[in-house]
Amino acid sequence: MLSILVIEAIYLISPFSVAYCFFHLGLSPVRSTDRTGPDRLIRSGLSTEPENRFGSRFLTQNRPLIVPTPPPPPPTAARSAATPPTHDQYDINIDQKTAWVQAGATLGELYYKIWKKSKVHAFPAGVCTTLGVGGHFSGGGYGTMLRKYGLSIDNVVDAKIVDAKGRVLDRKGMGEDVFWAIRGGGGASFGVILAYKINLVPVPPLVTVFNVPKTLEENATDLVYRWQHIADKLDNNLFTRAVLQPIPGKKTGELTAGASFIALFLGDSNNLVSIMNENFPELGLKKEDCKEITWIKSVLFLAYFPDGTPETALLDRNLASPSAFKMKSDYVKTPFPKDALQGLMDTVAKSGTIQVMFNAYGGKMKEIPESETAFPHRAGNIYKIQYLFNWNEAGPAVEKQNIDAMRNLYSYMTPYVSKNPREAFLNYRDIDIGSSDNGPNAYDQAKVYGVKYFKNNFDRLVKVKTEFDPENFFQNEQSIPPSKQFNNRGR
Ligand SMILES: Cc1cc2nc3c(=O)[nH]c(=O)nc-3n(C[C@H](O)[C@H](O)[C@H](O)COP(=O)(O)OP(=O)(O)OC[C@H]3O[C@@H](n4cnc5c(N)ncnc54)[C@H](O)[C@@H]3O)c2cc1C
Repeated sequence: MLSILVIEAIYLISPFSVAYCFFHLGLSPVRSTDRTGPDRLIRSGLSTEPENRFGSRFLTQNRPLIVPTPPPPPPTAARSAATPPTHDQYDINIDQKTAWVQAGATLGELYYKIWKKSKVHAFPAGVCTTLGVGGHFSGGGYGTMLRKYGLSIDNVVDAKIVDAKGRVLDRKGMGEDVFWAIRGGGGASFGVILAYKINLVPVPPLVTVFNVPKTLEENATDLVYRWQHIADKLDNNLFTRAVLQPIPGKKTGELTAGASFIALFLGDSNNLVSIMNENFPELGLKKEDCKEITWIKSVLFLAYFPDGTPETALLDRNLASPSAFKMKSDYVKTPFPKDALQGLMDTVAKSGTIQVMFNAYGGKMKEIPESETAFPHRAGNIYKIQYLFNWNEAGPAVEKQNIDAMRNLYSYMTPYVSKNPREAFLNYRDIDIGSSDNGPNAYDQAKVYGVKYFKNNFDRLVKVKTEFDPENFFQNEQSIPPSKQFNNRGR
């Protein structure tokens, strides 16, 4: 137990990753999910219901993982560009426009390290800078450059994984099927990912951002309604999101709802204003609303760091807030009616804590076929919704109240979002959409959540799992099970 705690503590505070723990501390046995302590779990978006907190029930369902400790590499060993780093978390090669990044790095660290080497390269990944590369990439990984460059996984070209037999395999070793599966299918069903090789993407020396808040009196509802009609059709260099949230009303203590329109444009403000005014004149965007800043500053801006925050803040691994939360997701294929939006705004205002984010799709997202990676939510989506409920008070009563409110809202949204299946984003894990006990009925149980997360890719994931981890060594409440219908070795 002590060694488990030590591993967790080292993982959380050290600049090194899971790979470092395995190879350099040589601690074994460990469990596949030891690295998922309460702090890490809170980042994952899994349900905050007591039984599903990163507590005993989750951990006891995971079996010990014994990883042989290889001898340390000779100190002078030369590394090829394709070899992942052993001591550093990053191995960035600007000439080749590639990098190896270990799974224990945070996104903020990755962005910062790239920026230190080049001001005109970046990587398309999430907005929240304390997210871990390990889970984030394996579930897809979207951010404000998805319309230009797709998801993180669309820019991952190799990986190192520890399989159930303790072998360390690269893309060639694991094979194309497993490499396909860990790009969007969640790494935790297949092994422990040590590092990813990524392609860096070009960004201009200056990009443009804005955050324009609108109140109900300023026609926030109409604007969001209108935004739905243009968000996925804009220039691919432009990503926009609409964030619906409670805001103080005119009277003391009163809450109403507002919508903020937020954007990253890989270009200058003149161009941005003209694109916006041509496609979305109702917003009335002016040049004064825009900021031309470096890409790295845009990361800080979009993650709500205050103006003037230095780039080194991206290296801070501490979470901004220790609050509990629950997330859910939806995909929207047709703009929903104004009265439905009105109802949503009312709910947001009454909730006092909910944030609903509409993230524009289209662009590169619609060009990549659904079967290219395990992440299937591509063409046909105007935008993805992220529902986020968070609260600071402790106790089951408050938890129940908030989770019930979230479920009521999710139910309210049913007519307006994707159907058959009602699609969901793996990175916003939601235990409400199904779970598995990893017993004899695991395939049927997993299919319930599996088709929502993976659509037609679910069966292929089961097939890969059956081949790669037939004993279901790597399992959790929402993992991919092996199945005998795909291989006699399955259950
Ligand atoms: C505040 C907030 C903002 C977010 N913003 C975004 C966003 O902008 N874009 C986006 O796409 N997502 C976003 N997410 C979701 C986020 O991508 C997921 O929560 C993701 O799983 C985080 O990965 P992690 O490694 O930090 O989390 P963890 O909780 O450590 O891991 C999550 C899952 O991945 C598995 N995993 C982690 N590391 C490995 C590994 N090395 N090998 C195998 N399996 C592994 C874990 O076992 C677990 O199942 C956000 C979440 C939060 C809480």
